Amino acid sequence: MELNLNVRKLYNGMIPFIIGLIFVMIITGCGNTSNGGMKKDKVNVVTTFYPIYVFAQAIGGEDAHVVNLIPTGVEPHDWTPRSQEIMSTSKAQLFMYNGAGLEGWVPNFLVALNKDSKVKAVEVSAGVKLIESTEDDGDDHGEVDSAESVKQHHIDPHTWVSPKSALVMAENIKKSFIEVDPTNQSKYEQRFQELNDKLVELDHKFQSELAEMSKTEIVVSHQAFGYLTRDYGLTQHAIMGLSPDAEPRAQDIIKLADFVKKEGIQYIFFEELVSDRLAKTLAAEANIETMVLNPVEGLTEEQEKNKENYFTLMEKNLQNLIIALK
Ligand SMILES: [Zn+2]
Repeated sequence: MELNLNVRKLYNGMIPFIIGLIFVMIITGCGNTSNGGMKKDKVNVVTTFYPIYVFAQAIGGEDAHVVNLIPTGVEPHDWTPRSQEIMSTSKAQLFMYNGAGLEGWVPNFLVALNKDSKVKAVEVSAGVKLIESTEDDGDDHGEVDSAESVKQHHIDPHTWVSPKSALVMAENIKKSFIEVDPTNQSKYEQRFQELNDKLVELDHKFQSELAEMSKTEIVVSHQAFGYLTRDYGLTQHAIMGLSPDAEPRAQDIIKLADFVKKEGIQYIFFEELVSDRLAKTLAAEANIETMVLNPVEGLTEEQEKNKENYFTLMEKNLQNLIIALK
């Protein structure tokens, strides 16, 4: 009887150990077969979402192996990492995220990384003059439950949508490569210069073309164009908040429909990764058209297949803005 009890105690005591052992076996098993997707002899970079991924690839070139966390066709505001992403990021040299409140999961993610991980975390938007949102907290985010998240939602995270801010982001990415791999500094500088030239050209194009428009007000579905409109002298009126799944209040839609009629606005902008239901509703209400304005938060599978990229999408954005603001 007593022996049985002791055996049971011993057995119960072993359960956490056995679970721990299985967990270790899973981790090392993954490590042996794929090394978490990391490559030797390259700077391994993990990025959170599309714009940072393409800028890191452009600057890192053949010296970098860049892995993007948020997959094609997925909208980044609601995405959160799983344990496999924590494991692979632990093995990388660089972890690049946007910051400015886009990836609310980053602080916990960094704490969860392997204790002996050497990964350097880079907040790519650092140095961009951030925009405080005027959006009120009332009913827009059901998940807001701490002072921290309230603060995050008040900062507009959409820095990359303005070529001017994208220039700052590219500079940060270049610096972080040089910091972890100084021997290849000149190669990073050279590739950065090519990307920088393209962004400067895009910036000049936005600047000169938009300066000639007769209108400056745009109506968009998701409030993602704060930096773009600030940097090029426009004003955005958003149906939804900073996060595209936030539902607007009926009185806000009515107010916006009145505004659209009063200002003689001809188009309502929507985006591909999020439902266009509200934009269509408002457009029908005001008897006007809808058109795409892309916040370049990610590619759809269709866009990926058609070899669209940050520059082609921004170029289309400019052309559509010109049509709407004439
Ligand atoms: Zn967004």
